Amino acid sequence: MPRADADLIAAPDAPDSSPEVSSTEHIVAAVTRAIVEHRLLPGAKLVEQKLGDRFGVSRTVVRQALFRLSELKLVHLEPARGAFVAAPSIKEAREVFAVRRMVESQMLRELIAHIKPADIRKLKAHLKAERGAVARIDVPTRTKLLFDFHVRLAEVLGNQVLVDLMQELVSRCSLITLMYQSADNAQNSNAEHAQLLKAIEARDTDLALQLLHDHLESVERQLIEAPRTEPRTSAPT
Ligand SMILES: [Zn+2]
Repeated sequence: MPRADADLIAAPDAPDSSPEVSSTEHIVAAVTRAIVEHRLLPGAKLVEQKLGDRFGVSRTVVRQALFRLSELKLVHLEPARGAFVAAPSIKEAREVFAVRRMVESQMLRELIAHIKPADIRKLKAHLKAERGAVARIDVPTRTKLLFDFHVRLAEVLGNQVLVDLMQELVSRCSLITLMYQSADNAQNSNAEHAQLLKAIEARDTDLALQLLHDHLESVERQLIEAPRTEPRTSAPT
């Protein structure tokens, strides 16, 4: 049986707390951190009452946090059974990457035809933020920013359906990325994004497509194969 539950989730550190941050966000951040640190494993049950006691909040607030976590694809809500840490299968992860290759290749072709200098500037600013989060080993933020780069690319085309689709696709990898992406892997991803943006700026479609494929392939390998061939000692058994 997977280890549960609220006992493994530390209450937020006081120095990180600011009055504006709501209780909901505190719980979301604490659960995310517990996943990053492998204190909460895929499939673990999250008990509303225990979370409420731990954070000193009502069950309504706990439910809001669990709903937000389910939107982030970190938690799976099952009617009448409760909330569980998501447990994406290898098959699902592979399917997500296959769809990403299809969608993002075509997206990149169109993007290179339409991108404007202002878009490039925005994307460069995004890469700088990524680099900062990678450097300070802020795992939840770097995970989000590394995913968001692909969503930012989709936004260039101004097609909301595509943006929503990209958001959905990258979110489905949140849990495995939080658990398994090493600092080195994150740094590589950031460097690969920078190379890709350079090729986009140079409007070199062939190079951009090659870099995108290499990037998606290396991320897929890091997340799906590496963790299962080299079990991490930090993970509870
Ligand atoms: Zn990426």
